[in-house]
Amino acid sequence: MVTGGAGFLGSSLCRALLGRGDEVVCLDNLITGSLENIEDLFAEPGFTYVEHDVSTYVWVPGRVDAVMHFASPASPVDFERIPIQILKVGSLGTHNTLGLAKAKGARFFLASTSEVYGDPQVHPQTEDYWGHVNPIGPRGVYDEAKRFSEAMTMAYHRFHGLDVRIVRIFNVFGVRMRPDDGRAVSNFIVQALRGDPITIYGDGKQTRSFCYVDDEVRGFLALLDSDHVGPVNIGNPDEYTIAELADIVLEVTGSSSPVAHHPLPVDDPTQRRPDIGLARRVLDWEPEVDLRDGIARTAEYFRQVLALGS
Ligand code: UDP
Repeated sequence: MVTGGAGFLGSSLCRALLGRGDEVVCLDNLITGSLENIEDLFAEPGFTYVEHDVSTYVWVPGRVDAVMHFASPASPVDFERIPIQILKVGSLGTHNTLGLAKAKGARFFLASTSEVYGDPQVHPQTEDYWGHVNPIGPRGVYDEAKRFSEAMTMAYHRFHGLDVRIVRIFNVFGVRMRPDDGRAVSNFIVQALRGDPITIYGDGKQTRSFCYVDDEVRGFLALLDSDHVGPVNIGNPDEYTIAELADIVLEVTGSSSPVAHHPLPVDDPTQRRPDIGLARRVLDWEPEVDLRDGIARTAEYFRQVLALGS
């Protein structure tokens, strides 16, 4: 079972699970996911879709081997738009899906985030770093929901003996990302394709490390199949400033969009880069797709989506 299975990451995960012969029950309330992300999967015999909000009681009939909890809006623009839903799916949704995993004797897999590290004072971020989060800031709704979900998952593991896995996901991009999700990669590519100004927030010196979605999902499956509880960082350790990202998007798309500077959002982390030593050691995993290649693939996808929408 994959919650958030119609979302950016969830839909790629459903596809990968079906591709290796697993049956998949996909739950989504379509608050940020979309049926277009999974339309090709309805023809697969092993695929079932249920429209459901996992912040309310969750049940699926029959045997379940794994519950993979990927439901949550995750873009900073969502933090202002739907803050209560984010807190509910991270808290109530995690509790409900843990309860289902316990009832079914299933393995529970939590999609956590590098946002648990907040604006990190340890760089690169290792899994043993406790983070630097502002609980009452605008990002707190997501960061604290995920920190709570990690705590709840470990409580079920320790108290109920539930078999669990926790992945901490760093910035991911690629096909089936929402063109209007407000993130740097999607904004910059769409702006470049349309010839609109590239909106850099702040001075553009803040850093992120971008992982292509196929690499990320391969990491999820490696962790799911491993004996390691986690948390495990899964992300690409190649770190770029946001200004460098803008230059790469312009170069790869051949766009001559100008750059426009806008104010930096509150509590925007100044740096982010995963230490993936643990993933390399215990999962034998590392990313393969470099940023330029991934941007080219994503730009091709956005070209098609924008052409359909216009
Ligand atoms: N950002 C930007 N322009 C945009 C969107 C984002 O400069 O149009 C910046 C944002 O302030 C942050 C970085 O890019 O410093 C990554 O933002 P994103 O929303 O992609 O992810 P997150 O902040 O969650 O890592």
